[in-house]
Amino acid sequence: MRRPSRLQRAALREALYLYQLAARAVAQGDLEWARVLGKHIDRLYLKYRLRPLVSRKELVCKRCKTPHLPGVTTRVRIRRSAGKTYVLYTCRACGFSWKKIIRHKGREYKKTPRNTRVYTLAWKGLSKKGPGEE
Ligand SMILES: [Zn+2]
Repeated sequence: MRRPSRLQRAALREALYLYQLAARAVAQGDLEWARVLGKHIDRLYLKYRLRPLVSRKELVCKRCKTPHLPGVTTRVRIRRSAGKTYVLYTCRACGFSWKKIIRHKGREYKKTPRNTRVYTLAWKGLSKKGPGEE
C-alpha cells in the first residue's frame, strides 16, 4: 500500500470530522442533514481516493448516504453460510445491505476492521462536547 499523501491525510481528517457531525445530526433526529454531510464525505472519498485508509462503505450507506452508525442507523449481524463467515450490515433507513467476509473455510481474513477507532470518534461526537471544541 502506498503511503497516503499529506493532502490525503488532511482530506481524511475532514471526512472524519464530517462523520462526527453527521453522527451528531442523527442523534438529534435530523436525518436529512446527516445525509447531506454523508454526500460530502462520499465526494471527499472519490476526489482523494481515501479507500486504503478507512473504507468508505463503512462510513456512509452506499445507496442513501446515511452515516453508518452500528446499532443506530445500521443493523449488524454475523452470519455463516457455505463455509464463509460474514458480517451483514443493513441500512435501517433504506434497507440496503452489504456483507463483509471475515472468515473463509476456517481461515481468518488478514484484514482486520480498522474502523473501531472511527466509531469511537463518532460516539465522541455524540457527547456534550462538539467535535473540534477540545
Ligand atoms: Zn441506506
